[in-house]
Amino acid sequence: MILRDLVARKRDGDALSADEWAFVARVAADRSAPDYQLAALLMATFLRGMDDGEVRALTRAMRDSGRTLVRPSGSGAWIDKHSTGGVGDKTSLVLAPLLAACGVTVPMMSGRGLGHTGGTLDKLESIPGFRTGLSLDEAQAQLATLGCALIGQTGEIAPADRTLYALRDATATVECIPLIAASIMSKKLAEGLTGLVLDVKRGSGAFLPELERGLALARTMVSLGADAGVPVVALVTAMDRPLGDACGNALEVRECLDALRGAGPADLWTVTEALAVEMLRLAKPALDAAAARAELRAAIASGAALDRFRAIVAAQGGDVRAVDDPERLSRAPVVAPFVAPHAGVVAALPPRAIGHAIIALGGGRTRVEDVVDPAVGIVFHARVGDRVDAGQPLATVHARDAASLAACRATLARVLRVADALDEAPLPWITHRVTADGVEALAPGHPDRAGREPSPPPAT
Ligand code: URA
Repeated sequence: MILRDLVARKRDGDALSADEWAFVARVAADRSAPDYQLAALLMATFLRGMDDGEVRALTRAMRDSGRTLVRPSGSGAWIDKHSTGGVGDKTSLVLAPLLAACGVTVPMMSGRGLGHTGGTLDKLESIPGFRTGLSLDEAQAQLATLGCALIGQTGEIAPADRTLYALRDATATVECIPLIAASIMSKKLAEGLTGLVLDVKRGSGAFLPELERGLALARTMVSLGADAGVPVVALVTAMDRPLGDACGNALEVRECLDALRGAGPADLWTVTEALAVEMLRLAKPALDAAAARAELRAAIASGAALDRFRAIVAAQGGDVRAVDDPERLSRAPVVAPFVAPHAGVVAALPPRAIGHAIIALGGGRTRVEDVVDPAVGIVFHARVGDRVDAGQPLATVHARDAASLAACRATLARVLRVADALDEAPLPWITHRVTADGVEALAPGHPDRAGREPSPPPAT
C-alpha cells in the first residue's frame, strides 16, 4: 500500500477501507511513515470527514497497534470514566477509589493538562512521591490486589494514537469529531473494560463548547463502544464555570479529599455522584439509580472510599500521610485574596481565562516539556449568581511570588464580572444522557440536574 495514494484518495473525498486504516495505524505506530504524509492525511480527513465504518476501523486499528490490559476471566466488572476536560474538573480522583470501594475494578488511564484544562496525572503527582508512570504489568498487578490503578498512557498502549495525536496537535487537526472519538476510544478499549462512562463537557470552557457538537461526539463514542461490545453511557455536563471551588493541582487534591470525607462543594458532588451512579449501574445492572446512590453514599460514610484512596496512594509510592494531613501537599508561599471591586452579582467565572491564569501562575503547561508547579492555583469563594459586597473576597490566589500574584489579580479583575444582574443563567450541571438507545434530555427537577444538592453523609 502506498501512503501517498491514500492521501490523494482522502483528499478527493473517498472512504478508506478497514485494511487501509490498519496500514495507516501500523506505519504511525512503528514510525515508518514520514510525518508530512501522515499530517497530510490527517488534514484531508479533517476536511473530508470519515464515515462510520472508517471511524470504527481506525479505532480498532489504533487499539490493536499496542498492548492492552487483560481482564482475567471471572474478575467481574471493569469500568472507567473519561472526561473531555475542563477547569476544576477533578471527579476522577473521587470516582476511582469510590467505585473500587464498591467492588468495581477501575483501570483509570488519564492524561495531563491540555490547553487551558487541567489533567488528572498532574493532580495526582502533587501528592509527594505519587508515581503515575506504572508499566502495564505493574498496573495489571495492582488492579488484581486493589481493584484500581491510576496511570498515564504508557508507550505500550495505542502507540499509533500517540503519533497521530502529536501530529494533530502540531497541524491544527485536533478538533475533528471522528478523529477525537477514535483517539479516545482506542485507548479506552485497550483497557479491557466491561463498561465506560463519558463526561462530555459543554459551555465556554469545553473542548467542544456547542451542545450539538458535544452530543455528536458522545453519540460517536457510544456507538464505537457498542461495536466493541462495551456499553458506554455519556453525560453532558456544564463547563461554563469551574467545577467546585479549587483550581490548581494540590488545591484540587485537597478538595477531593474533602469530597471523599463527605464534605466539599455541592456541585462537585452532584457531578461526581451522577457519573458514579452510571459507573456502578454498568457494573451492577440490577441496581436502580436510588440503590446505586445509597451504595455510593454508604462507601463515603463508612470511610471505605477514603481507605481505598489511602491504599492506592501507598501502592503508587505517594506519601500516604498527605491523605490525612493535606498540609503535607505542596503549598504556595504567597496566598492572598482577590476581592470584589464593587457590590453586585457575580456574572461570569469564565473557565478558559481562569485556566490560562493558572498556567500563568505555573500550574499548567504551554509546552509539553514545561514543569508544573503543583502548589499554585485559585480557590473561589463565590459562584455565578451570588450577590457580593464591595471588598468581599471572591477568591484566594496561591502564587509562587508577588509578581505572579499581581499578574493573576490583574487577570481576575479583567475576567471575573460583577454586574447589576445576571445576563445569562449558568447551565444546569447535567443536561443530557446518551446511551445506545439515544439521547435523553434530563428534565428540569431531575435529581441529576440540580445545581446545589446536599453532600453525602460525612465519613465516620
Ligand atoms: N483527547 C484524546 O485523547 N484525543 C483527542 O483527540 C482529543 C482529546
